[in-house]
Amino acid sequence: MKKVLAFDIDQTLNVAKTPINDEIAELLTRCLDHFEVCPISGQKFDQFLIQIVDRLPNPTPEELSRLHLFVAQGTQYYRFNPEKNDWEQVYNYPLTDEQVKKISETIETAARELNYWEEDKLKDGDEIIENRLSQVTFSALGQKAGTEEKYAWDPDMKKREKIVARCKELAPEFEYEIGGTTSINAITPGMNKVFGMTHMLEELNVKKEDILYFGDMTKPGGNDYPVVQMGIDTIAVRSHEDTAFALKGILGVIN
Ligand SMILES: [Mg+2]
Repeated sequence: MKKVLAFDIDQTLNVAKTPINDEIAELLTRCLDHFEVCPISGQKFDQFLIQIVDRLPNPTPEELSRLHLFVAQGTQYYRFNPEKNDWEQVYNYPLTDEQVKKISETIETAARELNYWEEDKLKDGDEIIENRLSQVTFSALGQKAGTEEKYAWDPDMKKREKIVARCKELAPEFEYEIGGTTSINAITPGMNKVFGMTHMLEELNVKKEDILYFGDMTKPGGNDYPVVQMGIDTIAVRSHEDTAFALKGILGVIN
């Protein structure tokens, strides 16, 4: 029996960048009674709270202590401290200022060359490139764009594939991964989900075969693919609805 359920967030637990729905919130809470539950995503810590933790219906401190937040693809790890009744950071591996600058300039140059730098479409105060400490993220329409608008921007990933190809020419020392609906994550080599999953194994003191991973980008080039390559059992989902279906099956077998 698996000990750990690990989840990508965007498109796996939610509609990209929005809070999880009631059904997923309830299913995850039930999972916490049987498994260690590990969301791992390129997003920042505050988004893990907004999109997942704050949505759980009345979790006990004991349940929360089995929830492990692998932030910024697991280059940061937070766990719940029941004594302090708060989250604590266990580790953090940030990029240097120089790396952030180089990546930001590279992506902007590539996107501008290809006419995919659409600053005019941004909402007030929004940004296309965001420093997420352990990675730099390009979000073509910013963070605040509507879901439909985002889905429509690059449904076949062709735009992002072109940007990535150009970035690899301009700054091959970094890795670029396509995620979510409009995003590209740039990282230093090895700082992808393999890094996060490897630390997960260590921190939770489990083996690869103890983990079941859920992701929507499990094909080559997608940000969940490195997990597949590691040999971790993976369930490929198209959306949170597939995830809910699978979780109901898992919980049904247990109860
Ligand atoms: Mg995803």
